[in-house]
Amino acid sequence: MKIYISVDMEGIAGIVRPEQVQRGTPDYAEARLLLVREANAAVEGALAAGADEVIVADMHAGGFNFPPEEMHPGARWLHGGPHWPRFPFLEGSDGMILLGYHAMAGTPQAVRDHTMSSAAWQEFRINGQPAGEIAIDAAVAGAMGVPVIMVSGDDKACAEARALLGNVVTAEVKQGVARHRALTLAPARARELIREKVVEAVRRAGEMAPYRIEGPVTLQLTYTGTDLADPRFYDGRAWARVDGRTVTIQGEDFMTALGHLLGRW
Ligand SMILES: [Zn+2]
Repeated sequence: MKIYISVDMEGIAGIVRPEQVQRGTPDYAEARLLLVREANAAVEGALAAGADEVIVADMHAGGFNFPPEEMHPGARWLHGGPHWPRFPFLEGSDGMILLGYHAMAGTPQAVRDHTMSSAAWQEFRINGQPAGEIAIDAAVAGAMGVPVIMVSGDDKACAEARALLGNVVTAEVKQGVARHRALTLAPARARELIREKVVEAVRRAGEMAPYRIEGPVTLQLTYTGTDLADPRFYDGRAWARVDGRTVTIQGEDFMTALGHLLGRW
């Protein structure tokens, strides 16, 4: 059984401030240990539940956040960038885990709520429905026939995942109070919870359906400023400008539309 773990940073226990997720700050050195140790707990859970192949993808910022000496030897680790194509080696996986994820941009009382870029993306929709990174990554996995079996993060990220994916297993490692305030589990307890929930999710993987978006697909992105929308080439088909800050991207299927957006990002 092959399990693929995509790891972001904002939904890790003990992480609540922007400087913790930004390379070069004193707080980042400690936060990346919280990150890799929670990822290691997920690897342990997957192996304990019978996985014989585990891939962990570092998807935060430039994709180089795990200190290599800390990586669990039972997995292989995808790190570095760029992040397009989004999930190399995902094909053939029996389940995908979204670890350390966060709620979509605009969610109240959610730690570091954003979608792809706090600085550039104000709001994002897939076929008219507001969507965040949980939906985007679940749809990328779904396009390859892989179900998302577990999501971890704060209470808002977990609720967003359940609303989208139904019977997905969730692990709530903190409760958002404000964008930069949370009631968190101690990291040691969060790792126990992650391990337990991964075991449950891997055992139940067969019950989970891939999240598929049937094409044609319209993505709608509202940037934070008109200057970010200006440099696009608008052909009125793949890319169209709706208003000063809002653009639409069309594709015959989800991956084509997302490729137009992220492949040129
Ligand atoms: Zn991130």
